[in-house]
Amino acid sequence: MMLSVADLTVRYGSFTAVSEVDVEVADGEVLALLGPSGCGKSTLLRAVAGLEPPAAGTVRWDDTDLADVPVHRRGFGLVFQDGQLFPHRDVAGNVAFGLRMRRVPAAERHTRVAELLELVGLEGYGRRKVTELSGGEQQRVALARALAPRPRLLLLDEPLSALDRALREQLAMDLAGVLRVAGATALVVTHDHDEAFTLADRVAVMRAGRIVQTGPPDEVWRCPADEDTARFLGCGLFVPAVVADGVATCDLGSVALPWAPEGPVTLGLRPTALRLAADGISGKLIRSVHRRDHVRLQVRLDDTDQLVDAVAGIAETPGDRVHLTLDPDGLAVVR
Ligand code: ADP
Repeated sequence: MMLSVADLTVRYGSFTAVSEVDVEVADGEVLALLGPSGCGKSTLLRAVAGLEPPAAGTVRWDDTDLADVPVHRRGFGLVFQDGQLFPHRDVAGNVAFGLRMRRVPAAERHTRVAELLELVGLEGYGRRKVTELSGGEQQRVALARALAPRPRLLLLDEPLSALDRALREQLAMDLAGVLRVAGATALVVTHDHDEAFTLADRVAVMRAGRIVQTGPPDEVWRCPADEDTARFLGCGLFVPAVVADGVATCDLGSVALPWAPEGPVTLGLRPTALRLAADGISGKLIRSVHRRDHVRLQVRLDDTDQLVDAVAGIAETPGDRVHLTLDPDGLAVVR
């Protein structure tokens, strides 16, 4: 059982929002569509749901072309950014909605609703009004409602982006757990790479209507397809390097990267790629700013006069001479 999208193009008038996209989601797999705002993620998801007609290409479930199958007959569950719960129904009424539509008998419905509320961590919330829940709780109800009829595919459009940062991180972990336990097959749209990497088995990176890279989170994070993708994934500085025997060497130093391809590469540096150390390249500290769990430094390198970002455990005094070494966790390799 799988979803396959082939050569899909979606247009709004003369504007092409999704261009010749091929993507598959296998049974039990969670695929994240990741990309900047406006790149066409929601449009692609809506076309899969049947809410947007394709200009070309196909959406299939196994061998069935869904072109003539309306939204409510596709057997897909939908969760949107703002939950879109029914305000006049209580929590149980919302979760039971899809079951009622399918004429599931009352006793079976109650059991399923209780099961789902437990799964999303809202045991005993059945009689609560949805209008009195927090944003995070409302999204849990929306997820339970979408999962209740056992959809063959779950489509989630920025399910966490209406929530504040701290709650989002927690809920992303919870959501990942719920999807695993439910064995759900899901397509999740997000612009947030942390969220994509927390939730997904595989990530498809989109840019300007096209999928530019598909792979497991590790691979996409470490080896972005090109500099634009690397930039989107947090790399701010690019330097030429050579990898030999699993060690990358560039003007900023050498670092073990056993996963990197051998030969000439471009290294992408995230702001945490250079760390304060006892030795390594030297420079003058320009700024030192406290962050939540580390100190962010700006250093002017002695050799090149270049200004680079770095991190440290404790604050340092601007004007001091410091040394920096490369941290493999902050690096990406672009071929
Ligand atoms: P994303 O989900 O990646 O933020 P969308 O799929 O929502 O991107 O939008 C992709 C592009 O299509 C954007 O440029 C957006 O302005 C445009 N777009 C989205 N919906 C419509 C619409 N109904 N009519 C016209 N243009 C649209």
